[in-house]
Amino acid sequence: MEREIVVVGAGPSGSATAIALKQAGHDVLLIDRQEFPRDKACGDGIPAGAIEILFSLGMEEKIRGADFYPVYRLLLSSPRGYVLEADLKKGKTGADSCVVPRTEFDALIQQHAVEAGVEFCKARAKEPIIEDGRVTGVRVRQNGSDQEIRSKVVVGADGVTSVIARALSPDTHEDKHRAVALRTYISDIEELPHEVEFYLYQGILPGYAWIFPLGEGRANLGLGMRLDKFRDANESLEQMVEVFLDIPDVNKRIKHGGKLNNTAVWQLNFGSKPIQRAYDGALLVGDAAGLINPLTGGGIHNGLQSALQAANVIHDALVKDDTSLTQLQVYDHRIEESMKKSMRKSYLIQRSLLYFPSWVDILIRWGGSNSDLAKTFIDKL
Ligand SMILES: Cc1cc2nc3c(=O)[nH]c(=O)nc-3n(C[C@H](O)[C@H](O)[C@H](O)COP(=O)(O)OP(=O)(O)OC[C@H]3O[C@@H](n4cnc5c(N)ncnc54)[C@H](O)[C@@H]3O)c2cc1C
Repeated sequence: MEREIVVVGAGPSGSATAIALKQAGHDVLLIDRQEFPRDKACGDGIPAGAIEILFSLGMEEKIRGADFYPVYRLLLSSPRGYVLEADLKKGKTGADSCVVPRTEFDALIQQHAVEAGVEFCKARAKEPIIEDGRVTGVRVRQNGSDQEIRSKVVVGADGVTSVIARALSPDTHEDKHRAVALRTYISDIEELPHEVEFYLYQGILPGYAWIFPLGEGRANLGLGMRLDKFRDANESLEQMVEVFLDIPDVNKRIKHGGKLNNTAVWQLNFGSKPIQRAYDGALLVGDAAGLINPLTGGGIHNGLQSALQAANVIHDALVKDDTSLTQLQVYDHRIEESMKKSMRKSYLIQRSLLYFPSWVDILIRWGGSNSDLAKTFIDKL
């Protein structure tokens, strides 16, 4: 089979790349190892900027018609229990951030890709086809048999465990640039309406626990920790959730014993470690490209931004009929230009939280919503 572009992974980053390329007039095959709707472990917090990128891809009507839970406020709680509350920023065109289960959110984008004319097929990518140092397609497992799909460009959008990324660059992963996180749902909590909550406390810093409301007493609840700190902690994430639920200010809001459901654990790949994202005949986007903010753990907005940038660069390369690394590496430069500064700053704050946890008390008690800590959380959600 021969295609112009194959996008591997139909999460937000892959589906958005596919939509943008299809809208630019290209032939796109989008593959995923799962049918949609499917779950993805996440806090389900979708920043206003991400919503507006989807509007720009023609999804405004669909999103306004969907049942997304808008959030307007943020609460940050420090190790000593000081609390800061602030308004979240609206997007440039006035969109609100929201909380929406990824089962629903991702399916809406993947469906939009299909309606835009992208061909979707369920197949598991095994590895990129590499000939003379150039990516010329993907080997996939589909309906029980192995197949080769040839293409001018392959986009690796297959998440943190990307087989495309692993085949193209040696695995140089370091635990301090990764995190592990647990997500669960609670259905009997007295939520703070339209307010997302972040708890930064001893034992979990520089990570945090969160409660993101979904309305009617339901919330996405979870916690994430830097992988090296998690390995030192000698405690499971499930045990840590119990500790979190025992915090008096949280515990008193749980109405009938705190029924948890749909618990899942997943890794996060921080953008604090620079990696190559453009190759001869291939690009990486989203989590496959390691674009998660190292302080907030948010990756959807950066993933969607990378999708638009990748689609732009691929379109220009195809117009010139040259998808070599020389053409595609402009993508690496654009990602650096647009995200490096904020990744570096977030990583610096994250490291400060690790070494000076009492700083969090000071910032939350006295720094107010203008402190870099608060601003980063506000900006990223
Ligand atoms: C617990 C947790 C909480 C988080 N909370 C938030 C949050 O609240 N807000 C936020 O912005 N970010 C959050 N993140 C990060 C966010 O989930 C990711 O940044 C986001 O999912 C990235 O989207 P993506 O499309 O790049 O990858 P993914 O969403 O992971 O999609 C990758 C797709 O590739 C498919 N795939 C994988 N391997 C293959 C293969 N071999 N062949 C074919 N298909 C394949 C998968 O099935 C999947 O559909 C959180 C992460 C975790 C783990």
